[in-house]
Amino acid sequence: MSETRSSVNAPALDQAAIALLRGAHRGPVVAAEDEEWEASRRPWHSGVDQQPALVAHVADAADVEAVVRWAQQHGLAVAAQPRGHGATAHLDGTVLVRTAALDEIAVDAARRTARVGAGVSWQAMFDALDGTGLVALSGSNPSVTVVGLMLGGGLSWFGRAFGTPASSLLAVDLVDATGTSHTVTAESDPDLFWALRGGGGDFGVVTAVEIALHPAPELYGGRLAFAGEQAPEVLRAWAEVTRTAPDELATWAMLMHLPDLPQIPEEVRGRSFMSVDVMFVGLPDEAEALLAPLRAVGPTIRETVRALRASEIGGIAEEPVEPGPPMRAVSHPFDVLDDDVLEHVLATAGVGSGTPLVGVQMRHLGGAQTAADPSTGPGAQIRPGYVLAAMAPAFSPEAAAVVDEALRGLVSAVPRSEHGLGITFLQADQPIEDAYGAEAVGRLREVKQAVDPDGLFRSNHPVHPVHPVRPAPAT
Ligand SMILES: Cc1cc2nc3c(=O)[nH]c(=O)nc-3n(C[C@H](O)[C@H](O)[C@H](O)COP(=O)(O)OP(=O)(O)OC[C@H]3O[C@@H](n4cnc5c(N)ncnc54)[C@H](O)[C@@H]3O)c2cc1C
Repeated sequence: MSETRSSVNAPALDQAAIALLRGAHRGPVVAAEDEEWEASRRPWHSGVDQQPALVAHVADAADVEAVVRWAQQHGLAVAAQPRGHGATAHLDGTVLVRTAALDEIAVDAARRTARVGAGVSWQAMFDALDGTGLVALSGSNPSVTVVGLMLGGGLSWFGRAFGTPASSLLAVDLVDATGTSHTVTAESDPDLFWALRGGGGDFGVVTAVEIALHPAPELYGGRLAFAGEQAPEVLRAWAEVTRTAPDELATWAMLMHLPDLPQIPEEVRGRSFMSVDVMFVGLPDEAEALLAPLRAVGPTIRETVRALRASEIGGIAEEPVEPGPPMRAVSHPFDVLDDDVLEHVLATAGVGSGTPLVGVQMRHLGGAQTAADPSTGPGAQIRPGYVLAAMAPAFSPEAAAVVDEALRGLVSAVPRSEHGLGITFLQADQPIEDAYGAEAVGRLREVKQAVDPDGLFRSNHPVHPVHPVRPAPAT
């Protein structure tokens, strides 16, 4: 396990080989000459130009088994990518497995668990939990998949209240490197189960998971939006809220500069906004008492905070659900939110700073995800107190260079936490060492060696620094 498989050494696929897979597979298998190729190969992350060898839209676990066996025989790698929010471009010489058809959701409210297929989006999960008084540990975006988020660790609206998404995995149905389906649990295979709780997609193709649900009979949340000019007061008030917040309260501050472009609605085009997004597990009055410092700033210009149903969680942060322009981004974990950090953020990205960045967000972390037992998975614990994340579109290499300089400037004076944020908050070019410490990465490599010694599976952030190459098949 040492060399790199690339487009240069990937085997050429002939029609007979493709026909063999099609014959063993119920879902569509799409090749480069097919009309559906462009739509099939492209990830959600539009800045990434991935070029797999073939795309298999699997219909069930038997299809995944067929893909794995076929890839073994033909010397190709296998990469699962439900949507591609986290695509990183390393797909030469792979069969790309699309899981949208694995859409099973079965909620067992009495046991507080759910069985969830590997194609299920967070919006579908939210809808299934409406009226149950239960929540799953979701992130902010409704079009991301449950499995994609949980395998990568995950930063959740509920991380402070209940812990990390990865730690809610109870059992994982997985097709292994021999093309065989297994249910992996802490009892059946402790090392592999540990790795799946945050280590990503390097260990097999997951077809479904069983997850823990958490009691949240009342939810209150939404967005409080102020004018961008009020950012200094709002950020100071938000910092105060975070210093005393109970674990049930998660708040994220977001400074937005909407470009003066015809695609942006006229009423907000070219304007700046300072928002605080809120999720509280509890009653409206309790939440409002905790938000008092923000209310003292003055009236909002728009707000959506209210008692929420589970199906409304994905709308809080008003994030895009369709792919947009190519973006450059950074995510930077840090531990202490003091006046120096606030002043630096305002000076480099506030109104009047001339920043090219369109969104600058700070999420308050901590709580249960920090107090968690780190031994149950690489993504079981998130230790940084906050994350500073920012982004901007970049339509040319010159624009990307300008944005990258602004991103570097933004994080330069904010002391980086010693600890990472898991795989889901890595940018495309970041190695797994930026997500987890050396000990966890070393253990992930041992598990990889044990379950996939030939490097069949290819994650977006692989546990080895270079993609392992599978030996060419004997002919
Ligand atoms: C707008 C936006 C908002 C986001 N918000 C959050 C957030 O609040 N919190 C957070 O933690 N993350 C967030 N993310 C990051 C997101 O969680 C990751 O991109 C993650 O990869 C899930 O995206 P996906 O479902 O499209 O998976 P993909 O990007 O399609 O897959 C990512 C990787 O997951 C693995 N994988 C996925 N499914 C399988 C499977 N069935 N079997 C084996 N491996 C698999 C593979 O290694 C794959 O490369 C956000 C991303 C975007 C673009």
